[in-house]
Amino acid sequence: MNHHGLSVISNGVSVREAASHYPFHQTTLERWIRDGLVSTLQRNPIRLDLTQLHRDIAKIRETKRNGGRNNEELAARRYGLTLDTYRRLKSLDWHPCSACRCMHPRSEFPIDRTRSSGVSGLCRAQKRDRDMRKKGIDPYAWVDKLGDET
Ligand SMILES: [Zn+2]
Repeated sequence: MNHHGLSVISNGVSVREAASHYPFHQTTLERWIRDGLVSTLQRNPIRLDLTQLHRDIAKIRETKRNGGRNNEELAARRYGLTLDTYRRLKSLDWHPCSACRCMHPRSEFPIDRTRSSGVSGLCRAQKRDRDMRKKGIDPYAWVDKLGDET
């Protein structure tokens, strides 16, 4: 681990040689080195956790794009919350739903172990609707079948 939190790193081998052991291009690796995302290279790719690497890179890129402004602050703003409220909800294990554009308790999300939060970015209700739409089913077709008594 270096100070960027990336898990590549160590024993000077050439970029070309290192790249040949990883499932990405030499130019990609060169760009990462130039951007300071990777400092030294390793011949053995076993220690490279690609999921974690991509997640770290996305995080670093986002911070760079935002002129170094803290991700938390941006997330809070995205969900229309003050940083304080956002942090309080996080501490209560609430998570953001990108479809509802608000936070829900953990129990309202399907588990997704590929994400750092451990839960999906969409809540169960949104995920169900999306899955139905993918199958060509209108999740709200039942509304049309209701009588007019309302
Ligand atoms: Zn939601």
